[in-house]
Amino acid sequence: MIIAIDGPSASGKSTLGRLLARALKLQYIDTGSMYRAVALAVIEAHVDPNDADAVTMLANQIEIDLEGDPDSLCVLLDGRDVTEQIRTDTVTEMSSIVSVIPGVRRAMVERQREMGRRGAVLNGRDIGTVVFPDADVKFFLTAAAEERAERRYIEDHMTASSSATLAETLYDLVERDRRDSTRADSPLKVADDAIVIDSTGKSIEEVFEEMMKNVHRNH
Ligand code: C5P
Repeated sequence: MIIAIDGPSASGKSTLGRLLARALKLQYIDTGSMYRAVALAVIEAHVDPNDADAVTMLANQIEIDLEGDPDSLCVLLDGRDVTEQIRTDTVTEMSSIVSVIPGVRRAMVERQREMGRRGAVLNGRDIGTVVFPDADVKFFLTAAAEERAERRYIEDHMTASSSATLAETLYDLVERDRRDSTRADSPLKVADDAIVIDSTGKSIEEVFEEMMKNVHRNH
């Protein structure tokens, strides 16, 4: 079974993706962490992010592995654990810049299809539209930008991965969503057959119940 979860930043995709994967005993694939790994590699190799050919070449060379349970997923870049490093503001910003490059997308999509072919919950921006257009169940999670920014702000401060103010977090999030939604290749959009869930004002448990009902209804 393939379950696709798409949506804008901080819409709850990873929390709910993990919960669904655990409940359904499926592999959990966070595709955003793969674009983040590419971004980190670009920064470390001092590659110009505007040089699409150089970034694509690097994206094809590096090895990215996702290891462990849904609850403790480790991201490995060429065998090195970069789980925490890919969550900094700099990498977050760079990930949405390099993910615009078609060559980078082709490299990641190919790997995602291979990784998920035996069944998985995948979250990202283009899972239901491009990576697995025939997914068994497609969700599009969303929430008001202010609420998403607040969630991200709390999370960032708990993990100390960012020192941005709430207003800065909101600004960055809206800017990243704009970039993700307006790019020419695989923009963030709702698949025709996706189940749209707006989680504004809802608890994780409520959204989880709603998603599980839909999975059982479709299967
Ligand atoms: O989901 P997350 O916020 O970790 O993703 C980081 C960035 O990677 C996103 O802002 C987006 O630009 C890119 N991304 C993408 N396609 C995906 C997943 C993430 O373009 N399937």
